[in-house]
Amino acid sequence: MTGTIEEIRGKTAGVKRPRAKMAPSATPETRPYWDAAADGRLSVQRCQACSHVYFYPRDFCPVCSSDLVEWIDCSGRATLHSYVIEHRPGPGFENDGPYVVAVVQLEEGPRMMTNVVGVEPLPENLPLDMELTVQFEPRGDMWVPVFAPAGASA
Ligand SMILES: [Zn+2]
Repeated sequence: MTGTIEEIRGKTAGVKRPRAKMAPSATPETRPYWDAAADGRLSVQRCQACSHVYFYPRDFCPVCSSDLVEWIDCSGRATLHSYVIEHRPGPGFENDGPYVVAVVQLEEGPRMMTNVVGVEPLPENLPLDMELTVQFEPRGDMWVPVFAPAGASA
C-alpha cells in the first residue's frame, strides 16, 4: 500500500485486522515441556523423593520441596474435570469461537487447563469425566496440547 499516512489511514479505517493468536513462550523451567510437545509427547514432572506427579513445571516438588524431580511422558489419556464454553473469544481467537476451555485430569494425576477440540461445543457433548486423548496444535513456533474425545480421529 502506498500513499501518505492520511491516505493509508483513510483506506484502512474500519478495517479490522486479525490479531495474531497469543503463543506460549518457553522459560528454562518449561523448556522440556514445550520440547516434548513439539515432539508429540505430553510430559510432566515427577518427584523422585515422594513420587508426586505434578504440573505446571517447577524445579521443586510442590509437596515435599525436593529438587530431585524428573520428566515423565504421559499416556495422553485424561478425563474432563470442568469446562466453560467461550462464546466471546479473546484477541486472535475471534474466528475460533465458540470453543471449549477445560480443566482435564491426566491419567497420571495432575490437572491441566486446555481446550477440548473435535466436538461441537455444546453441554450435551461434554459430560464430566468423559474420556479424552491429547493431540497437539501449532501455535506460533510452539505446539500446544489440546484434548479430543477418546476414539475420535484427529
Ligand atoms: Zn516430593
